[in-house]
Amino acid sequence: MRLDVQVAGNRVTMTGRIDDSATFADLPARLPTSEIVIDTGGVTFVNSIGMREWIRLLRGLRETGRRVRLDRVADVLITQMNLIAEFVGERAVTISSFHAQYVCPACGAESAPLVDAVANAPLLQQMKVPAMPCPECGAQMELGDFPERYLTIFKG
Ligand SMILES: [Zn+2]
Repeated sequence: MRLDVQVAGNRVTMTGRIDDSATFADLPARLPTSEIVIDTGGVTFVNSIGMREWIRLLRGLRETGRRVRLDRVADVLITQMNLIAEFVGERAVTISSFHAQYVCPACGAESAPLVDAVANAPLLQQMKVPAMPCPECGAQMELGDFPERYLTIFKG
């Protein structure tokens, strides 16, 4: 599935794959000069070429004076962004929420719940994630990966 990009006012919703076929070159011109909200909750795959386009997009928006807020950042995207010094270093973008892979130690269920990055900011700065109830058995789920893969970007 190719990337679908919907623009409604200052809100951009992306669904599908951010890969070689993704191009955001014409996107900034279609957006108002206010705070831009980008929802990537429906993104299922990101590769290195897609990541380059994504960085270029955020850079372009910033250079034209917009502030960017990322809503519901996809699991596949937040882990990639944690590898990019530009995002980790200077808080180039605001992240309001993101998906993270959790696993249940009691029953083994896996899910990718949405983590509220604003309400949990103090916790995330300490490289910790909030406890999430398992949708299957109700036990407390744990992050299914190294915290650094998700939380380097939030480090205080
Ligand atoms: Zn469980």
